Amino acid sequence: GHAISAGAIKIEHLSFGYDAQRPVLRELDLDIEAGSFIGIVGHTGSGKSTLLSLLLRFYRAQSGQITIDGQALASFPDEAFRAAVGLVPQEPYLMAASARENITMGRQISADAVIAAAKAARVHDFLSGLPQGYDTVLGEGGARVSTGQKQLIAMARALAGSPRILFLDEATSNIDSATEQTVSEALIALRGRVTVVAIAHRLSTIREADQIIVLNHGHLVERGRHQEL
Ligand code: ATP
Ligand code: MG
Repeated sequence: GHAISAGAIKIEHLSFGYDAQRPVLRELDLDIEAGSFIGIVGHTGSGKSTLLSLLLRFYRAQSGQITIDGQALASFPDEAFRAAVGLVPQEPYLMAASARENITMGRQISADAVIAAAKAARVHDFLSGLPQGYDTVLGEGGARVSTGQKQLIAMARALAGSPRILFLDEATSNIDSATEQTVSEALIALRGRVTVVAIAHRLSTIREADQIIVLNHGHLVERGRHQEL
């Protein structure tokens, strides 16, 4: 069948450039076990977000291949792919709508499932504490929400779809250490159930990752657990 079931990711000899003259990712090899938690670090411009873009099929690599559960990334129908993959973007977008609507995004998701997703993203206490709880309007003209809280709401949005794979591109700025700790805890709690690929700007976010990879100018220069790097 053409659905993502386990969420194991294999990357082989992957090379990519936005233009032919300048490679951004060079001969990357990476094995990500289903249900594991992978952290990606590297200086600005090293290719971290580009790697996520390829995994999300926003771009296609010039050479090499990516498979999920042994099947070519391109082989999954869009609907099946979207249902199985969640993204917490670097700059999450909130609609001018209720917290609940910002999590369901038009999908048929029960009130209980919304709360379960918000709890998994560690943002339930924040949302239920707003003046109208989950009915409080967020976004333009609504309740003020920090970048870190936006990321947690975006995580609830992603988790509400019960993804097999979760990609997270940590916000570069405006994340206080308590929120960062919260992001970290939420990711750790997914271990074994959801494959997590998290770009981190702070090593502390991914301290507990099963594998941390370091990108440098598009090369994978190191891999290991936190204490090995
Ligand atoms: P940061 O830590 O700042 O988010 P990053 O590791 O995510 O950096 P990328 O965004 O993947 O880095 O960028 C890698 C390289 O590709 C950079 O040189 C960047 O300028 C270039 N780049 C990124 N996106 C595009 C694009 N859409 N078109 C052309 N070049 C791009
Ligand atoms: Mg980036």
